[in-house]
Amino acid sequence: MDRADLGRTALTDALGRRISYLRISVTDRCDLRCRYCMAERMSFLPKNQVLTLEELALLADLFIARGVRKIRLTGGEPLVRRDIVDLVRRIGRHLGGGLDEVTLTTNGTRLTQHAQALFDAGIRRINVSLDSRDPERFAHVTRGGDVRAVFDGLDAALAAGLSVKINMVALNGVNDDEILPMLRWCDDQGFDLTLIETMPLGETGEDRTDHYLPLTQVADSIRQHHALTPIAHRTGGPARYHGVEGMNARLGLITPLTNNFCADCNRMRMTCEGKIFMCLGHEDHVDLKAAFREGGLQAVEPLIDRALRLKPAAHDFRIGAGATAAVRRHMSVTGG
Ligand code: SAM
Ligand code: SF4
Repeated sequence: MDRADLGRTALTDALGRRISYLRISVTDRCDLRCRYCMAERMSFLPKNQVLTLEELALLADLFIARGVRKIRLTGGEPLVRRDIVDLVRRIGRHLGGGLDEVTLTTNGTRLTQHAQALFDAGIRRINVSLDSRDPERFAHVTRGGDVRAVFDGLDAALAAGLSVKINMVALNGVNDDEILPMLRWCDDQGFDLTLIETMPLGETGEDRTDHYLPLTQVADSIRQHHALTPIAHRTGGPARYHGVEGMNARLGLITPLTNNFCADCNRMRMTCEGKIFMCLGHEDHVDLKAAFREGGLQAVEPLIDRALRLKPAAHDFRIGAGATAAVRRHMSVTGG
């Protein structure tokens, strides 16, 4: 195959779903250890197994040529990767020329250093994860994090002109009493808020059943104070948005457990070592790295087609007595 022939066919799976959104986990490492995400002691990939900036950028070029219009960089914590801004700049070259958006999900601890450079490289919106604004609780959930670093990071993001959406995993008995205050605080700050149901991915040494909180229940308790109206706003991901009576903030709900959203899934995921996962909830994957390092992008194209055929109709997450993790890998491998 000639290089000019690369990327000629769009990404469509066996069920006719068009894939236009790629999430790249640029590192499996993180400076926090959130209890629902990672185990306290994690072993991370050796550096030589991780794709270089140039490799990630070339693969991103190919995915964009095949119709990906939105790329989210995630992790692990993407801002612990030293060359992250250069990668954004490389991918950002496609903005307005095939790519609609490059964006980022971060825990916010390093935004003070990077917010302006990320904006300058082409990022306009970021998701910042914040499960509690209370310093002690935050330190508990993240196993040692300092919430002030996130607040400083949020200030830096606003000063740089980035739009912010806060991601909050709803955890029964941990932060359920903070959800309404968080929504009001987000409204004051000019942020949207997305709530997420905890998913059974990887062993963390914690029992997720104890802390699982269905968002149907959370929405009902918010409605006691503010009417919620479903709105058409979409950001390309799985969140379904609601207008909140009396607020400008939009409330997004990501409900992998109570309301499976797979029928119109448009996403695929690439790990930092070049594995393509077509679904967060399945182990099936295709490994691009060896083929890429030996045969370049030409060798990768057929593997992407194979990956498309692996996309399942739906995930099947269960939380409850006797249920084990749906997949062994942690959320930090494929990213949020
Ligand atoms: N480190 C960055 C962060 O925390 O935003 C990016 C990666 S993190 C894996 C992406 C998102 O996944 C975060 O919002 C996090 O709260 C969420 N997450 C992690 N593990 C999860 C789980 N088991 N169930 C639901 N959400 C999870
Ligand atoms: Fe790190 Fe994000 Fe996982 Fe927390 S959720 S441990 S910040 S990767």
